[in-house]
Amino acid sequence: MIGANLTNETRKAVYKRDGYRCALCDSPRTIQIHHVMKRSQGGTNEPHNLITLCMYCHGVAHGTRFPEHADWMNAAEVHEACIEYLADYYAPDWYPWEGGL
Ligand SMILES: [Zn+2]
Ligand SMILES: [Zn+2]
Repeated sequence: MIGANLTNETRKAVYKRDGYRCALCDSPRTIQIHHVMKRSQGGTNEPHNLITLCMYCHGVAHGTRFPEHADWMNAAEVHEACIEYLADYYAPDWYPWEGGL
């Protein structure tokens, strides 16, 4: 169902898969679930579209810049890193770029 909220069950499964740490910087603090492909772009609530990010990496993924971490990845790089991370789990059965970049 489009617009359905992420269930707690899925959220926990994704946290568990990712070891309860940010998939990008390994921080165990303030972890959150990020939809790699935006819901508005057809992204689903399936684990292969979900990744555990810390509050900071999650902010960057959504375009927030943190001056104290100016040398960290930008939003596009975070997005790519998320996809690479998930591809390690789900490729070649799943690939998010069927329509190309
Ligand atoms: Zn992080
Ligand atoms: Zn997000």
